[in-house]
Amino acid sequence: MARFTTFRFCLDPTVEQEAALRRHAGAARFGYNQCLRLVKQALDGKQRGTVGKVPWSGFDLINSFNAWKCSADAGRVLVAAADGTTTVQATGLAWRAQVCQQVFEEAAVDLGRGLAAYTGSRTGGRKGRRVGFPRFKSKMRAPLSFRLRNKTSGGRAGIRVGGQAPRTVSMPGVGTVAVREDTRRLRRMIGKGRAKILSATVGHRAGRWWVSLTCQTADLHETSRHEPDGGAGWVGVDRGLAAFVVAARADGTPVLRVDDPPRPARTGMARQCRLARAVTRKQPGSRNRREAVARLGRHHARIRAIRQRFLHQVSNQLVKTHDRLAIETLTITGMLANRHLAAAVADAAWAELARQIGYKQQWRGGRLTLADRWYPSTKTCASCRAVAQAMALSQRTFACQACGYQADRDLNAAVNLAIWAEQHDAQVRDLHAGGPVTNARRGEGSGPRTRAGETSPDDAGTPSAPAGARRGRPRRALSHHSNEL
Ligand SMILES: [Zn+2]
Repeated sequence: MARFTTFRFCLDPTVEQEAALRRHAGAARFGYNQCLRLVKQALDGKQRGTVGKVPWSGFDLINSFNAWKCSADAGRVLVAAADGTTTVQATGLAWRAQVCQQVFEEAAVDLGRGLAAYTGSRTGGRKGRRVGFPRFKSKMRAPLSFRLRNKTSGGRAGIRVGGQAPRTVSMPGVGTVAVREDTRRLRRMIGKGRAKILSATVGHRAGRWWVSLTCQTADLHETSRHEPDGGAGWVGVDRGLAAFVVAARADGTPVLRVDDPPRPARTGMARQCRLARAVTRKQPGSRNRREAVARLGRHHARIRAIRQRFLHQVSNQLVKTHDRLAIETLTITGMLANRHLAAAVADAAWAELARQIGYKQQWRGGRLTLADRWYPSTKTCASCRAVAQAMALSQRTFACQACGYQADRDLNAAVNLAIWAEQHDAQVRDLHAGGPVTNARRGEGSGPRTRAGETSPDDAGTPSAPAGARRGRPRRALSHHSNEL
């Protein structure tokens, strides 16, 4: 079992449960801030030469916090004895018993990650944008969120699904909370030993409470996975603005064309402007302002949902039928600097599409490769390989000056990407594994192939067979209809 996936459910808490959720989210914020305070105090002490070790890792931070929460620093009372003398008694953090203690531990782990990112960024061990020193989480602005690990005590897991009623999730400290979606798929997988809940992250977003259950699950069933080297060669995938996705083989056969993507940010722009204007018109700090902000937040959540649904559709279509995909490396940051293109580029969410294709291909034992960044996939002739002059974005047809070949601009680019992948097949590296590609399945000679512990096609939710072929009932084509993300 090495596949990680998340099941997300919308919570439907009672009034008491909602209070418990808020309490835990508040405790997580408090724990994080207190750990940060301990780090800063230790850093100050180190400067003055009084304190030796500064807690930096999640493990050290947990220990520091646990020592602090029982100490007199966290809470103390004055006790007067009968003879008139008073003594200070350490009570520790007074309200600590009201929340599950794991909330503090996970908050400490989060801060440890933040500190590690800061160190890595400063020493050059971490790529990407510079990471600053962690800051305190504001009570007013920080999103409500906390995480619990699934600890087993007495053979009983702390986080359970469908314990009392099918549509419930039980968590330590919070209790059994109703959820809005069906949990059957996850319950079945757990029941058959094909999934194990590792942790639960609860958050408040767009006016609702959500729980994300991170699971370690069995590999996809064989029928949902690609045959090793069983495909018909590489498929190039060109992402663009005119056509969202054009996919083609090296011999020029077009395999997929998605022309009309939803552009939710563009369609919703008028509404977004109105809602944003409404926010600025309200008195800062007022209840009206808070409600206007919430309305704007719900609008953004809706845009995200529309976009994600579409991207899952496209990525599923691609990974189900093609075991080897090649995409180009896009310098999206550069394109976002162009103010005429920025909004459309951001709306297209190409990076998210690449991410989805990446992990879905890995689940299915397929391959995904990034073409060389300087490979001129648009300017090259797919027929005679001559490289032409740069084309304006408005020019939709590629016409070769050397051989007279004419093709749709995006199709030509997709074919070129497939050709690139065919040529570089031997040295192509897997995008996610970061090394030479191996099929996720067992190789020859590693013992009998067993099907135990594998997910059945029904559980997998992303079948490769045509609709209704296996069980005689219509299949859901999209995995995101269920909650597996
Ligand atoms: Zn040509």
